[in-house]
Formats: sequence, C-alpha cells, structure tokens
Amino acid sequence: MNEFNNILRPEDSSDIFDIAIIGGGPAGIMAAISAAKINPKSKIVILEKNNDLGRKLLLTGNGRCNFTTNLVFEDLISSFGKKGKFFFEAFMEFSNTDLIDFFKSRKIPPAYEKENKVFPEGGNSHTILNCLKDELAKANIKIYYNFAIIQLIKPDAQNILPDENKIILPGTTDFFILSSKLNKRVFSKKVILATGGLSHPQTGSTGDGYKIAESFGHSILRLSPSLIPLVSSYLSSLELEGISLRNIVISAVSDNKIVKSSKGDLIFTHFGLSGPAAISLGNTVNNLINAKKKVFGFLDLCPDINIEDLLKNYEKIRSLYTKKEILTTIKILLPFVPNDLTIKLFDVLKIDQHQKTGNINKTLIANLLNTFKKFTFVIDGTLSFNEAIVTEGGIPIKEINPRTMESKVVKNLYFAGEIIEIQGPEGGFNLQKAFSTGWFAGRSAALSL
Ligand SMILES: Cc1cc2nc3c(=O)[nH]c(=O)nc-3n(C[C@H](O)[C@H](O)[C@H](O)COP(=O)(O)OP(=O)(O)OC[C@H]3O[C@@H](n4cnc5c(N)ncnc54)[C@H](O)[C@@H]3O)c2cc1C
Repeated sequence: MNEFNNILRPEDSSDIFDIAIIGGGPAGIMAAISAAKINPKSKIVILEKNNDLGRKLLLTGNGRCNFTTNLVFEDLISSFGKKGKFFFEAFMEFSNTDLIDFFKSRKIPPAYEKENKVFPEGGNSHTILNCLKDELAKANIKIYYNFAIIQLIKPDAQNILPDENKIILPGTTDFFILSSKLNKRVFSKKVILATGGLSHPQTGSTGDGYKIAESFGHSILRLSPSLIPLVSSYLSSLELEGISLRNIVISAVSDNKIVKSSKGDLIFTHFGLSGPAAISLGNTVNNLINAKKKVFGFLDLCPDINIEDLLKNYEKIRSLYTKKEILTTIKILLPFVPNDLTIKLFDVLKIDQHQKTGNINKTLIANLLNTFKKFTFVIDGTLSFNEAIVTEGGIPIKEINPRTMESKVVKNLYFAGEIIEIQGPEGGFNLQKAFSTGWFAGRSAALSL
C-alpha cells in the first residue's frame, strides 16, 4: 500500500492555488499583481475577510491617499530608522519612483505636495483602489470575499496524520491548507500573509495574521498603537479645542530629557493633541508610559528663533508700543501664534491681556516668552488602536529573509505590509512599505514556484 491509497482530494479542484494571499489591503493586492507579472500562468487567489478590498486604503490621506513620498532612495530608507535597511532590497526592487511610475503609466499622474508627500493628481483613494482592482482583473486574479482565514496548516503538519487522514493533491502533499471562518478551505503551495496590523480594526485589520504566525512558531514584538493622537487632561482642561498650529516643534520629555521631537502642524482637541507633529510622538509616549515613566510635552511655538533673539526682538518693539495693550504687542511679535492660544497662555501666567505694554515688568515678559518657547504639559497617554494610523511591533525582521520576504521559520510562507515590524513616519511611507514589500513578496513567491 503506498501513501496515495488513502488520498482525500479536495472536492473542488479550483480551490488549489499556487499562491494564496491572505488579506486584500495594499500589500496583498500588490503581491498578487507582481506575482502574476512574474508568472502569468500561476494560479493566484486573494482571500479577504471583508466584502471588498482595501477598506483601510480608502481612509488614507483623509480620503486623498498619500500613497508615497518623493524623498530620494537613501532618505526613504533612513526614514524607517535604524532597522530600515531591512527594506533595502524590497525598495530597490519596487521603489517610490517605481510606484509613482506604476500609477503614472495607468493614467494617474502624481501630485507633489509639501513635505514630499505624493497624492494622485485630481484623484483620491478610490482612484488608486480602482486602478489596483483593474490590474487584478486584467491578471485574472481570483478574489474570495467574506473569506476570513482562521487557520493555516503548514505542509509538514500533515506528516503526523495517519495516511488515511492526509490530504494529497495530485502528486504532492506540499501545500498549505487555509480554512475560513465559514468552514471553507483553500489549498496553496505558497502563502503570503498580508493581514495588516491592529490599527482601525473596523477596516478588517484585527491582528489575525499575528496569531497565525505565532501558531507557526514566529515571535511577535509588542504591539502598540502608533502615529496616534496624544491624550493630556491638562491640555483638555484649558479648552483649546480646534486651535491649530503650523510648523511648531513638539517634544516628548521624560526624566528631564527630550526623548523625541517632531516638527510640523498640530491641532488641539477635546482630549489633547492631534495632527502630524503630535501623532508622530505617539509610539514614544506609549513606550515611556509602558516603562512606567512620567511623560511631559514641550511645545515650541516659535522654533525658528531662539529665546535670546526673541527677547531682543521684544525689547526692540516694546518702546514703540508702550501704550498698546500687551496682547497687541505680542501679536506683532509673534503674528503666527493664534490669538486664542496667546490669551490662554496669559490666563495660565495670570497676565492681564489689557495691561499696557509699558507697565509689564521684565520678569513677567521673560516668563511669557519662555512659555512660547517651552510650553510644558503632562501627557497622560495616547488614544487606542481604534484611532491609530499604524501598529508598532509585529513579526520581527530577524525572522524574515530580507531578500525574499520569506519566513525564516516556515518555508513557502511570506510576509508583506504592516504585519512586519518597523513602521514609517507619517507622509506616505507606510503605504510605500506595504506596496514595496507586497510587490517583493509576490515576486519572490512566483519566482520560486
Ligand atoms: C486613517 C488612516 C489613514 C492613513 N493614511 C495613510 C496615508 O495617507 N499614507 C500612508 O502611507 N499610510 C497611511 N495609513 C497607513 C496605511 O493605510 C497602512 O499602513 C496600510 O494600509 C497597510 O497595508 P496592509 O495591506 O499591510 O494592511 P491593511 O491595509 O490593514 O489590509 C489588511 C487586509 O487584510 C484583511 N484581513 C485581515 N485579517 C484577515 C483574515 N484573517 N482573513 C482574510 N483577510 C484578512 C483585512 O480585512 C484588510 O483588508 C493610514 C492608516 C489609517 C488607519
């Protein structure tokens, strides 16, 4: 009796694939497109738990989709920090300029905006998603919707089964078995895990991929919400909600040391602070709070001038405006600071805004100007995964081959997108990471068929 005597064949042979991609976000979609390009004859399926692809993609860039950055290659890599070089090969294979060209050649020209952000010109996130869906259709990629994978059985797991229980596809046992929540099964030689992270779970990214990888012996680095608004009960007590600031510097401070600073725009909210400059400190704040540290925020409302020059400038105009109210003089000195905020700082320092400039003593002014340079407040934490842009942590890069995106723990299993640790800053980096690692994983899987 040979091992094929007890073959249990899948009832529907159309459910046997070369490459199965779990997750139809930007990473999974791009993996399918590149795999089909490399190996047009391969059978590829995307398994998506929602009834449509790219739900999170539609939210990106406030619906406008900041799909990449216009930075040069070295800066693109270094924006991912010390570990960013892990992406070197993936970005070399499919860089930001490749991504821009990809959309350009499909009639979506890039719009280059401030801070090197790139958006689809005259379009939005629907334009990008529709273009990707067209590509999937052209390449005959199968898509199974409402197909939430809850279990992945790796090829060698069958070895422990008695022969009569083994599933053997024509000629091979070397395939993964993917089981859905609704008890459907798919069989595939290669699997790409592109299930995203935990941020905005209402879009479908509920961390399923971490559990699957963990069940295979992968480790998962601590998951925490990142690019996430900051909570400060002190700031919310000041009722500054709706005031927005441009080009300020905000720092997260602990043990009297600046741990991380960020320059850009922010907005006061009912819970604390949001906006690009604030959210980029979210992960740092979470790490500090997790380490039981007290965290303060410093806001520099006029980062382009130091305190000495600010005091000198004040002295220069003071004599001209001695009869003016101090609020007016400060407005002339710092025209870009919103009036509502200045008035609030006056309240905090107990300065009467109607006092004549000539009557204000030097110490009080020094206090006030120092507060503009270093407005200090307690940061209590961040909002939750529900509001996070990305998830920090995930599958450690040391468990993934950077030349292929293949798992070092399980052969023929690949990773792409946010599920891989190391997220980029705000500004198109995370979609670029999803597209590049997706492209690279799809290519590697197809090349090894
Ligand atoms: C509000 C918001 C705005 C953003 N704006 C930007 C921006 O402008 N620029 C930028 O670069 N980045 C932005 N990001 C980040 C960016 O969207 C993500 O980094 C990116 O979507 C990650 O892509 P992904 O394919 O890895 O994962 P996801 O986009 O999360 O896709 C994962 C897919 O897998 C599916 N899935 C999960 N589990 C299963 C399962 N068990 N079975 C089957 N399918 C499953 C999910 O339903 C989902 O469709 C933003 C994020 C948010 C939340």
